[in-house]
Amino acid sequence: MTESRNVVIVTGIPGVGKTTVINAAVDQVKEKHGEEVLVLNLGTEMFEIATKAGQVKTRDEMRKLPTSIQRENQRKAGVAIAKKAKTAKVIVDTHTLIQTNNGFLIGLPEWVASAIKPKTVVLVEADSEKIASRRVGDETRTRDAQAVIDIQIHQEMCRAAAVAVGTITGATVRIIKNREGLVEEAASELADTLME
Ligand code: ATP
Ligand code: MG
Repeated sequence: MTESRNVVIVTGIPGVGKTTVINAAVDQVKEKHGEEVLVLNLGTEMFEIATKAGQVKTRDEMRKLPTSIQRENQRKAGVAIAKKAKTAKVIVDTHTLIQTNNGFLIGLPEWVASAIKPKTVVLVEADSEKIASRRVGDETRTRDAQAVIDIQIHQEMCRAAAVAVGTITGATVRIIKNREGLVEEAASELADTLME
């Protein structure tokens, strides 16, 4: 019996364009195949949990919380996502590594990855210089300033984390480049992965 998996995890560093590419891919799948895709965001689930507990008021405060609290919220969010992800096609929008005051927190630790059981982990990558300027241009968020070299290292670390999720869950790992001004191209690759 073949096992059927319906979740694609989309990950990558802050400002790389995950949410933008996901939205375009969802539109393409709807247009070309008439299928709806449910998009779940691990950070949003964590934010709801942290807000309800009175730990934060804004989303960007979450990465400043003690890592023990972040880990516990992450665990609860992972369980919530796994429950919701039982329907048709699902995308989980999440970070691979979260820069905390105590080093990188792994976005998809074993217990979250195993609960979600993705068919593919899509790692969205872009030019480090472009990411730096996209962050500055994005007025909807309070983003931490980061040197281009650190963005590059962060992206390299994300590759290692994505491969680790593949190792734990058997998911394939696909790197999609989100080139400047070419969101639709990246979205088309993501749409193919969803429909595979
Ligand atoms: P976060 O992890 O913080 O949620 P994200 O990876 O979801 O970030 P987005 O919010 O999708 O990133 O995009 C960040 C900014 O970059 C937005 O202002 C978006 O419009 C812009 N952007 C995304 N993709 C491209 C692209 N291919 N070309 C130009 N600008 C882009
Ligand atoms: Mg996003």
